[in-house]
Amino acid sequence: MKALKIDHIGIAVKDLEKALEFYEALGMKADGTEVVEEQKVKVAFLPTGDSEIELLESTSEDGPIARHIEKKGEGIQHLALRVENIEEAIADLMEKGVRMIDQKPRYGAGGAKIAFVHPKSTNGILLELTER
Ligand code: ZN
Repeated sequence: MKALKIDHIGIAVKDLEKALEFYEALGMKADGTEVVEEQKVKVAFLPTGDSEIELLESTSEDGPIARHIEKKGEGIQHLALRVENIEEAIADLMEKGVRMIDQKPRYGAGGAKIAFVHPKSTNGILLELTER
């Protein structure tokens, strides 16, 4: 596998509309919001240069973003690297002994295919692989 670039940085927020006001004050503009039912989140992507910032608000009290905010507060929740072929990337990493949260890609915002790598294998960060 090859990591092509930092695709986006995911930030857990309590109130997406309020967070958007701040990021738009920085001159960024979201293309609207999207609810990803599977992950119980409402997201907005803010392109900046070659990468994006993803703001994530939980749509449920037991979703991963709600749990993140409960444990650690708002803030950076994950880093996403773009890959060319996510199935190949997962297989390659597993062969190298990397611990995956997702052994099969799942649906991400904007129709992307995503998979998370376990923080035990990434020096403590939640790493998302993204194929667009
Ligand atoms: Zn993400």
